[in-house]
Amino acid sequence: MNYPRLFIGLAIACIGGCGQPPDTSYQQQLFAFGTLVDITLYGVKPAQARQAIQAVDTLFQQQHHDWHAWQRGKLDDLNQAIAEGRSVDTDPSIITLIQMGQRYERLSHGLFNPAIGHLLKVWGFEQDEPNRVPPDPKTVSRWLQAAPSTAQLHIDGSRVSSGNPAVKLDFGGFAKGYSVAMAVNLLEQRGIRNLIVNAGGDLCLRGRHGERPWRIGIRSPDGKGVLASMDLEGAHCVFTSGDYERYFEYQGKRYSHILDPRTGYPAEGARSVTVLANDASLADAAATALFVAGPEGWQDIARSMGIDDALLIDATGQAHMTETLTGLVHFEQPPTGIETVTLGAHERH
Ligand code: ADP
Ligand code: MG
Repeated sequence: MNYPRLFIGLAIACIGGCGQPPDTSYQQQLFAFGTLVDITLYGVKPAQARQAIQAVDTLFQQQHHDWHAWQRGKLDDLNQAIAEGRSVDTDPSIITLIQMGQRYERLSHGLFNPAIGHLLKVWGFEQDEPNRVPPDPKTVSRWLQAAPSTAQLHIDGSRVSSGNPAVKLDFGGFAKGYSVAMAVNLLEQRGIRNLIVNAGGDLCLRGRHGERPWRIGIRSPDGKGVLASMDLEGAHCVFTSGDYERYFEYQGKRYSHILDPRTGYPAEGARSVTVLANDASLADAAATALFVAGPEGWQDIARSMGIDDALLIDATGQAHMTETLTGLVHFEQPPTGIETVTLGAHERH
């Protein structure tokens, strides 16, 4: 009689939960946007997880190519046309990014400015290895005089033209957020409910890790180790901007890749800014904008961008954070002091 044995075999196979997803997490790493992207899915069969992550990889590689600020591609074609005063047809995804960028520039009162490409180039941040010396101050003031802004771009269907040839688009401040959001959508469309997409410390999560929330780490401002952890569940994104990402040191001073469009020089005052929000692109743009605003100005910009939850570590190691994060952020490396701030009602735009 073979039946009982067959029955036992089925019974064992069902212990993991017949008709329910297996009680495990699946993790895979991809390389995209110059960083390792860690994808963790919970309660998904490995074959389904592999296929879904493969689809995310294809999406990322396409975006990397289309939106790269200084390699040949669709954004580069558009930037060439702008510099030559031509109007040009571009990709729908680039139109969307321009419109998002215009909105972030407006909401951040110009501190976030995706038309900043030429200035980034002058500083050597639009190349794989940054420069080692600051640029000639005259070159910086010429850029300031030209005053490029995404508001000078005119969109007509898929056609883009610029009233100012000094505009050069660089989506480096929020494209990663947009990509992570698209990856999350793609995974959700495949029925995956519990997930984290973590692009080098910038992440979005959904659902939970089985019986417990997801535990996520906020990178330390020195780029090494974990500054703080948070337990989160539901739908959240956490994005951090820091001066440790890309920088050079000259005569003992650090020059980082986040530039202040008011001065043309690297933003000073903050070492890192973390923003927690539902919208990944907004969180990414806001982390950069609040970094530029610095320890004095970040609260106003957070209000006008509609950000409720933010943490800024200043140059002295002091933490400034919204009181909404009290109890949620657990410091692993205690800051020199903690100032909590109530942002109050938003001034919506
Ligand atoms: P990362 O992606 O390295 O974590 P950010 O999200 O802060 O860092 O983005 C930094 C990038 O944003 C820079 O490399 C550059 O491409 C772009 N950028 C720098 N300064 C500004 C600014 N003031 N406004 C908009 N984009 C900026
Ligand atoms: Mg950013």
